[in-house]
Order: sequence, then structure tokens, then C-alpha cells
Amino acid sequence: MPSANTLYRGRFAPSPTGPLHLGSLIAALASFLDARHCGGRWLVRMEDLDPPREQPGAADSILHSLQSHGLHWDGEVLYQSTRSAAYSAARHELLQAGLLFSCDCGRTALTPAGCCSGDCRTRQSEIFHTPHAIRVTVPPHCQIEFTDLLQGRQHAALGESLPNFVIRRKDGLDAYQLAVVVDDAEQGITHVLRGSDLLDSSPRQIFLQQQLSYSQPAYCHLPVITTRLGQKFSKQNQAPALIDDEAEQNLRRALRFLHQMEPPASVAGVEQILAYATEHWALQQVPATLAIAAHSIGLST
Ligand code: GLU
Repeated sequence: MPSANTLYRGRFAPSPTGPLHLGSLIAALASFLDARHCGGRWLVRMEDLDPPREQPGAADSILHSLQSHGLHWDGEVLYQSTRSAAYSAARHELLQAGLLFSCDCGRTALTPAGCCSGDCRTRQSEIFHTPHAIRVTVPPHCQIEFTDLLQGRQHAALGESLPNFVIRRKDGLDAYQLAVVVDDAEQGITHVLRGSDLLDSSPRQIFLQQQLSYSQPAYCHLPVITTRLGQKFSKQNQAPALIDDEAEQNLRRALRFLHQMEPPASVAGVEQILAYATEHWALQQVPATLAIAAHSIGLST
């Protein structure tokens, strides 16, 4: 067993929009195994920031499924719904740095990437009293580079591709990009292993970390599992909820997806399967690709 590594802190950060499905189990399992293999801590954060998209009971159901699959986290679950004061403090810091503006522009003033190209910046004092989003400005020459542990060197000319983005929505809800950065810092996260669908969010998150003087975690974007039509498994495309009573089978399927050494049939029980998988975990075996179709590896969708 590796010795305890108090420096490594990984996390799984589900949004409670539906029950755990195979796609989310893969991300949870990979982040759990990488943390435990390194002797680190593994935390869970419930990203319940967006009530209109949430499904009643989903947060508890996800936590129950994690436990049923032996994925026991360290410490208390952090609920983003309790964190608005911290997001507001971070916003205040960005405001002091002169990086924020209020935006009430309609869809027609948005670029295809969702940036504002309207005239709101000339109407700041008038907008302040009406519903508006808050956007952060990215300086034109801002370049973000980082090395993803799986996908390799990444480079984004962020100032050109995304001159501004939303950190608080018009409906008053805090946006994911800011919340995730504030909470990764609060939880002292050193390693972010998550689905490749979030790869293009990382430059925005690194930009915010830099502005808020937070340290930058290591990033690792895992291939996502897709349906035959190439769609990511999600509640929207009816990814089936995992059956907790089939936890051993589910873990084995997730390990197969991640190209890990599968425990022999004699290894039975979720705790034993996870102990075996932790010992044999090899991140370099995970395919360095963005997506894998479930049927291509013999998994039904
Ligand atoms: N809450 C996000 C999701 O469920 C994941 C956020 C993250 O891992 O950074 O897609």
C-alpha cells in the first residue's frame, strides 16, 4: 500500500440532475482510484447550483449509489448551495481588479461562443438596477497553456476565443465556472480527474485561478462514454440509472472502459474489487482519447 499522501486531494463533483449512470461512475471511479493509489484524500462536492436543472432526490440518490459502489469519501460532502457568500467574495475581488461588467444584452448580441459583443459596457450604471448577468473580461492577449495528464499539452488563445464569459447568470444564479474554481481552492484540490466534455472549460477556470491567486490543480480529462450516435451518456439521452445491487458488475464495466487490469473472478465484493483496482491502477493505461462509444467495447447503452 502507498503511504498516506496528505498533499494529494482529488474530488468527484456531480450535479444532481439525475441518478448516477455509467458515465458518471467512470469519472467517480477514476478520480477515486487515482487518489487512493497515490495515498491521497478523495472528496465529494455536490454541485447543486442550478435548481431548475435539478431532480428532486438526485443528490441523495447519487451519494447512496457511491456508497453502494464502495466509493467512500473523506470528510463532509460540500454542497454548493451553501456557498454563495464565498462566490460573492470572489466576485468582489474580481470587481476590485476591474475585470467585471454587468450585461443585459439579449441573444442577438452574443457571439456563437456566448460572448457579449453588445453595448452594455456603455450603460453600466443604468443596467445595475435591472436583471443582468455578470461577465468577466479576458484581456485580449491572454493565452492559457497547461498539460493535461492524459490529453497532453493544451493551449487556448482565451482572449481571442472568449473575450468575456458569465460568472453570474441573469437569473441571479452563480455560474459553474466561478463556483468550481472557488470550491476547488476551498477544498484544496490538487488533482481534477473528470470527463473530457469539460476540457474546454479548463482554460476559463485556470484564468480565474490566476486572477484570484489560487493554485492550479493538475487536470486529467478522461474519455467520455457515448451512445452509438456519439452522444455523451447523460440524463438527457436517457442513460440508464445504475442499479446499486449490481455494483460489482458496474465497477467491472467501468474498469474495462478505463483499460484497467480487471480483478480475477475470485475477487468478490465491492471493497475487494476496489482494493485490487487501487493497487493495480495505471492512469497511463486509460485511452488518451476524448470519447469511446459504449458498443465498441461491448457495453450496451
Ligand atoms: N458538476 C459537473 C458535472 O456534473 C462536473 C464539474 C467538474 O468536475 O468540474 O458535469
